Amino acid sequence: MSPTAAPAARDRLRIAIQKSGRLSEPARALLASCGLSWRESRDKLFCYGETLPVDLLLVRDDDIPGLLADGVCDYGIVGRNVLEEQAAERAGGGKPQVSKEVRALGFGGCRLDIAVPDAWEWQGAASLQGKRIATSYPGLLAKWLAEQQVEASVVMLSGSVEIAPRLGQADVVCDLVSSGATLAANQLKPVETIMRSEAVLAGPVQAFTDARGELAHMLLRRLDGVLRLRDSRLLMFQAQRAEVPALLKLLPDAETPTMLQVDGADTLALQALCHGAMTWQRLEDLKRAGARGLMVLPVERMLA
Ligand code: ATP
Ligand code: ZN
Repeated sequence: MSPTAAPAARDRLRIAIQKSGRLSEPARALLASCGLSWRESRDKLFCYGETLPVDLLLVRDDDIPGLLADGVCDYGIVGRNVLEEQAAERAGGGKPQVSKEVRALGFGGCRLDIAVPDAWEWQGAASLQGKRIATSYPGLLAKWLAEQQVEASVVMLSGSVEIAPRLGQADVVCDLVSSGATLAANQLKPVETIMRSEAVLAGPVQAFTDARGELAHMLLRRLDGVLRLRDSRLLMFQAQRAEVPALLKLLPDAETPTMLQVDGADTLALQALCHGAMTWQRLEDLKRAGARGLMVLPVERMLA
């Protein structure tokens, strides 16, 4: 099947993900946990959806916004940085936005930071006036510089941005940072965060009018279930009725618990779905507040 032969009405969804890189494995795993499975084409660029009519296109992450804009793909899993860069470039060129962030996915976290040589004394954005800034994100950087009312020249580099100051190509950089180790290895220090990023599901601004609408709805419903589930645990315990209000105060991230009477009127068995981390500390706090027989269970599947 040719990915470009897109008929007006389609009855399969096509999702673009990164072929290889930081986001490719987590993106596939996330979609697989939504119940999707695929048969791979020989060139490993296209995966045909088997359990559901949802196909994958494996591409470079930078191509994903363009594939969405051209309607070649319906959804894409891409860094917010890449999606927003294309949005900034479209806005700069007076073009309307055709795709948007539909869900934040909780992996691939990083920041787009301004980083300057270690020896610099940073005195805010004004320190960048008249400087040369190397980046792969000219649209986002230009927007930020305009907001800061700073004039600087933007040096567009598609890779190895962090060595630009050492090579004399630029004075400072505007680059993606996660641990900061790469910057440190190049004698640079982060001084400002332009944007916080993570992997997102990007999709169309306009709703589908064909069979893809129903599919998209189902996919998003499953995705929401999976995303909610990731940190969710079922907490079970018993307590005296009088202690329940104090116990519930310790569970602000729990859904309204189910309560059953165990013996007589005073002992209750409670079960609550909690969406935050269930640490030993929290369990000990609950025990002190009167919870007995505490049990934390993983949640296998959830459909809201
Ligand atoms: P491609 O071959 O697909 O163009 P790439 O080299 O541009 O790959 P990766 O380095 O795999 O892409 O990064 C993909 C995304 O991972 C980034 O756009 C960003 O959203 C996210 N990311 C998380 N941490 C980092 C980091 N430390 N450096 C770069 N990207 C990061
Ligand atoms: Zn890339």
